[in-house]
Amino acid sequence: MDHVLDIQHLTKTYGKKTALVDISFKVKAGSCFGLLGPNGAGKSTTMKILTGIVEPDTGKVLIQGIDAKKNPLLVKKTIGYVPQSITLYEDLSAFDNLMFFGQMYGVKGHTLQERITKVLKQTGLLERAKDKVKEYSGGMKRRINIAAALLHNPQILILDEPTVGIDPQSRNHIFDMIQALKEDGVTIVYSTHYMEEVETLCDEIAIIDNGQIITQGNLKELKAKYSDKVIYIETTQIEKLRLIPNISKITAKNDGWIIESEHPVTLLQEILKASVEHGFEILALEMVQPTLESVFLSLTGTSLRD
Ligand code: ADP
Repeated sequence: MDHVLDIQHLTKTYGKKTALVDISFKVKAGSCFGLLGPNGAGKSTTMKILTGIVEPDTGKVLIQGIDAKKNPLLVKKTIGYVPQSITLYEDLSAFDNLMFFGQMYGVKGHTLQERITKVLKQTGLLERAKDKVKEYSGGMKRRINIAAALLHNPQILILDEPTVGIDPQSRNHIFDMIQALKEDGVTIVYSTHYMEEVETLCDEIAIIDNGQIITQGNLKELKAKYSDKVIYIETTQIEKLRLIPNISKITAKNDGWIIESEHPVTLLQEILKASVEHGFEILALEMVQPTLESVFLSLTGTSLRD
């Protein structure tokens, strides 16, 4: 699969504040690439550089192999950008907002009418199109903001934390839209500090912290590489577990205990055997699925949650 975006060695400072240090990643055509990191990590700055709004101090962005800086028209044509803040005219209807933004992108006449109908259908807001934006909920505004970025039919859609502070219904709509766009071959770059979103939507991710990419790759590979292999058990006689050879680290969690092991499947079997031999009761026993939270924790020593 070809890479439509190739981001090479971006650095950016704002005065004395370093926002990005040597950021590089590539995005495959038709995939969803997630940029995951806490607030202030450098996600927005990266996205603004991709769209040409902010210029990097060093480094470059190649779109379909072409240097974006040397071809701003290509950037405008190829990329749709959904900024974090809502940029709509509150006193205009959603339809009139879309007319305005479509014309700004050079879409006109019959084509624009068709595109507006299409993107309104995609957002699930066709019925409300004539209502003023000020009557919309935060989530509906966000959906129209995304619609505005799609009017010129971009091949790449960049979304900067599109679900912050919105209702679950709008969030689900946004997820469905992204899946549908992917099925249509649109490449998505998606930034968030919610791990569940990356797990649901993205094929490849980069974890960004303090302006640096600390790891990147396929979701499954990252979890296998960095997550601890862990078993969760609930029993009233935890001391009897210590009779099993090779169990070293047992930590309390919720109503039970977490046991780390390089060989969790073998350990599960040993625990079941020991429960019969030593006669202790097991109330719950499971292998814990690795999560991105544990990947982040293992790499940074801190939690991604605010
Ligand atoms: P994120 O999107 O991950 O929250 P940002 O890219 O917005 O992170 O910010 C990265 C860092 O750069 C932060 O420390 C932020 O305060 C700083 N920063 C971002 N924009 C500006 C700006 N215009 N002026 C000064 N500092 C900025």
